[in-house]
Formats: sequence, C-alpha cells, structure tokens
Amino acid sequence: MAQLSSSAVTKVYKSGDEQFLALDNVSVEIERGEAVAITGKSGSGKSTLMHLLALLDSPTSGEISINGVPTKSFSEQKLSKVRNETFGFVFQQFFLNANETVLENTVLPLEVGGMSQSERNRLGTELLEELGLGDKVQNKAVDLSGGQKQRVAIARALINSPQVIFADEPTGNLDSKTGQQVEELLFDLNKNHGITLVCVTHDRDFAAKFDRIIEVSDGRIVGQDSAVEPEKDLSALIERSVRNAVSKAVEEALSRNGENK
Ligand code: ADP
Ligand code: MG
Repeated sequence: MAQLSSSAVTKVYKSGDEQFLALDNVSVEIERGEAVAITGKSGSGKSTLMHLLALLDSPTSGEISINGVPTKSFSEQKLSKVRNETFGFVFQQFFLNANETVLENTVLPLEVGGMSQSERNRLGTELLEELGLGDKVQNKAVDLSGGQKQRVAIARALINSPQVIFADEPTGNLDSKTGQQVEELLFDLNKNHGITLVCVTHDRDFAAKFDRIIEVSDGRIVGQDSAVEPEKDLSALIERSVRNAVSKAVEEALSRNGENK
C-alpha cells in the first residue's frame, strides 16, 4: 500500500472574487522508501502538491491518504501530530530562527513533542556532530553560511526520526558545490536509512537522480517516469546501510522511531 497518496485531488485558491485552479484531478502514489522528484515550471503547482501530500494544506476536493488512511476527517491536532512525528521538512528559505542557536533550531520539534531539555540537547548535539556541525552547536543560526543553514534545517527535519522528508527546492538558495553536498545528504538519508524522499525541484539534473519524476504542468500530472524500481526490500536497505558505515545518530533515531511507533 502506498505510504502517501492523492486521489483525484483538486486545489482551488480563492482571493477575493478570483479563483485559480492550481491542481486539477491529481492522483499520485508514493511508496515507502522511494525518492520522488516533483518537477515542472514555476507556477505549475509543484509546491501545492507537496503541501497537500505533507498535510500542510487541504485539498478543495479529493483525498490525501497516509498508509491507506484517508486524512480528510483528521482534526487539526491529529494533523499536526502526524506532521511532527512522521514528516520532516526542508525548504529553500531554510526557515531557521536567526537569533536562536543551531542547537535550539535543531531540537524545536522535540520541544513541541514535550521532551525534556537535557534529553533534547543530548540528541540534538549528537545529530549535529554526525552532520558535521559539531563545532556550530552554540552559534546563532544567522552566523552560518547557506550550506550550513540548510544542514541545520535537515538536522531539524531528522530529529524526530521521520518516515518521510519533504523538501521544496532545497538547493535553490545554494551555490552548486554546497547544493551538491545537500543533495548527497538527502540521498544518503533515502538510500541508507530508508527515509522516503519527496522533493520539489525545477532543476532537471537534480530531478534525474531520483527513482521517479512526477512532472506537473498547469496543475496536472503530465508524466510519472520510473527510471529505477524503488527499493522495497528492507533487508537490502539494512545491509547497504551497514556497508556504508551508517551515521550513529540517525541509526539511533531510527531505532527510537521503531520503539515509539
Ligand atoms: P510551483 O511550486 O510549481 O512554482 P505553486 O504550487 O506554488 O507552483 O503555485 C501554483 C499556482 O498557484 C501558481 O500560479 C501560484 O501563483 C498559485 N498560488 C499558489 N499559492 C497561492 C495562494 N495562496 N493563493 C493564490 N494563488 C496561489
Ligand atoms: Mg514552488
């Protein structure tokens, strides 16, 4: 069963008397462990589709389901619980609190989840060390480079051991070398840790590296190429993760995930 699905989804934005059909009868399915790029021109509806799949917004008609469970009847509280516990988010604009430290930014989702400060700080520090930001833990976010900011945003996305990472143009504000490092980190999380990756990008070279490309044009799906079969065999994933010397913090986070859910 698909981990994420949209079924005949439509999104109409209304502003004043104007109506705009941003998504028109869109049905997609994303399997656990897949790496999927959502591509298309600016204004085609990529971010809208991602926001709907990520339960950040609701469709005008149609249904979004998570692991086969329709979400239409979910309360706001239930929606925010699913988002906080199951999804991690990475955006082009980073969305860090500039005057808070790297550690404070990273552990924010744990704070929302009610974990004690000492435990939050321990987990956050460990994860930041794994992501090569161990020496920046107490720096203000405002003092980081773009690539470092995006790695902090990825740390924040990972801190709750998400099953899915949603990224919207994650390399859009980065130079090509730094962008490459962020790409590699996202693919590492997908390939070696089994995290589903759903990434909006208009960059064709980046999109070509995904298992599958969902192409959007004027609010409709015009292509769902599948270059490679998604990895469905969990034991193969685990074996590879061992071979590639998996980062300890993410491993720990994943095992916590297993215990808690
Ligand atoms: P993309 O991510 O592909 O650039 P979006 O999904 O952000 O496109 O937007 C799709 C279309 O919907 C665009 O024409 C955009 O102007 C319009 N749109 C997006 N958000 C809103 C909104 N909140 N209100 C009105 N129109 C919107
Ligand atoms: Mg967009």
